[in-house]
Amino acid sequence: MVRAVLALGAVAALVALAVVVVPMLRPPGPRPLFQMPVACGETWQLGTYPGHDDYDVDFFPTDGEAWGRPVLASYAGTVTVAGINGSLGGRTPENPNGPRGRGGGYWVKIDHGGRWETQYLHLLEPPLVREGQRVAQGEQIGRVGSTGNSGAPHLHYEQRRGWDKVETFFDGSPSGITTDDREYTVRLMSNNCAA
Ligand SMILES: [Zn+2]
Repeated sequence: MVRAVLALGAVAALVALAVVVVPMLRPPGPRPLFQMPVACGETWQLGTYPGHDDYDVDFFPTDGEAWGRPVLASYAGTVTVAGINGSLGGRTPENPNGPRGRGGGYWVKIDHGGRWETQYLHLLEPPLVREGQRVAQGEQIGRVGSTGNSGAPHLHYEQRRGWDKVETFFDGSPSGITTDDREYTVRLMSNNCAA
């Protein structure tokens, strides 16, 4: 009896392992045609700085306030995370120099299939989407804020393929934000115009 239970347990463990591991071993699919996570036609400054992380991008608007600007899905997919990373802190439009939080604050992660995903951090308020929800390209998922470990209101954004962060591509072109070994910026116009 004990032996049978142990054997069943072992089989169950193997099946669970296969269910989790096998999809992770699949090769990534082709890169989705990502668009910038901000409104159609707007020009934003994309930047990084030493100690950020290679390929991480911080978005700041070139016109107007950052607070509350719409954050859009770069591509259609399924929301896998919509919650709090680290701690929120107390930075708001009314109190922009309030206590800094930790980590990403309010954030969203979207699975685009083919082992591609995007991440959106430091949102102002709880995300406008929930885990498991399907989103369309250009659908609003949140608003720009400064929750978590953030100096000023901006959107921290990443694209990942499989396990790895990769250079962000927008509208089929590489952003040019690659290494974090120095501070630099580029300016790009959003063509996230589907919605
Ligand atoms: Zn960042």
